[in-house]
Amino acid sequence: MNDLADTPLARELADLTARRRALESVRVELSGKTRVMTVSNQKGGVGKTTTAVNIAAALVSVGARVLVIDLDPQGNASTALGIPHSADVPSVYDVLIDEFPLADVIQTSPEAPDLLCVPSTIHLAGAEIELVTQVAREHRLRTALDAHLASLEERLDFVLIDCPPSLGLLTINAFAAAHEVFIPIQCEYYALEGLSQLLGSVNMIRRHLNPGLHVSTILLTMYDGRTNLARQVADEVRAHFPQQVMHTFIPRSVRVSEAPSFGQTVIAYDGQSAGAIAYREAAVEIIQRGDAPAEEEGHR
Ligand code: ATP
Ligand code: MG
Repeated sequence: MNDLADTPLARELADLTARRRALESVRVELSGKTRVMTVSNQKGGVGKTTTAVNIAAALVSVGARVLVIDLDPQGNASTALGIPHSADVPSVYDVLIDEFPLADVIQTSPEAPDLLCVPSTIHLAGAEIELVTQVAREHRLRTALDAHLASLEERLDFVLIDCPPSLGLLTINAFAAAHEVFIPIQCEYYALEGLSQLLGSVNMIRRHLNPGLHVSTILLTMYDGRTNLARQVADEVRAHFPQQVMHTFIPRSVRVSEAPSFGQTVIAYDGQSAGAIAYREAAVEIIQRGDAPAEEEGHR
């Protein structure tokens, strides 16, 4: 019987229990500022949306007030937050193209009163092209967000922008509106492929549109510790970006992938699961690390 206590599964469960307890007693102090983070990676399916909505819900669970801006025509973040986003719903499209105030399109997630969302609708699919002929086409989200933040009586602690998998005008609007770039990286083959292009875009935006923009956070997602590949990818990313990579990584977990089909984040769907615990730990780490730019951007 004693052998049972020493199996990998038993160790994993004991570890999870200890981490759950640690989270129960953790107290965080919010900065008193609004941190605007854009969750970006032009690679598709790396966990941008999953990360944006679950980090948002996890931040809310420790007392933050959070707005998620769904900037992807797929509308996956709106779905995961239980927000209606059929074609007739006022959305981020109306903000970007028709200059609606953000307050007119913000909805509250059924999950928590402090979890807010600007939905995306299918109309956004045309915005990338429609924006080309607009005045101040790169700054439209920033203008709307700045006006909204200045008008608020109750401060938002975080704004998380979920980007589409491209480096087009929608993502550029997100880069222009944000202070911090948050990059999820999937622990798979070719994880680093395309990263230099992304960092090149961030540098270009910093030079021309938004001098304060910096990569503050890199999160390893869909990590499977049983494979050598995942460990190798993690080591490689950490070697390149020692300052930005978060200590917490997100394991591959069925509960995480199931949650959106119930219109929920994993925090609401199964808050004690390994995926939810990891996202809650990541949220605490993001608050504790603050938004200070890394002294050196780490990529050589
Ligand atoms: P896109 O580029 O299309 O916007 P994305 O980068 O936003 O994609 P997600 O939609 O978040 O990526 O995730 C891609 C797929 O991987 C989804 O089916 C999601 O449920 C699944 N997934 C994400 N994170 C995890 C995880 N930790 N464990 C298991 N499945 C996951
Ligand atoms: Mg997505």
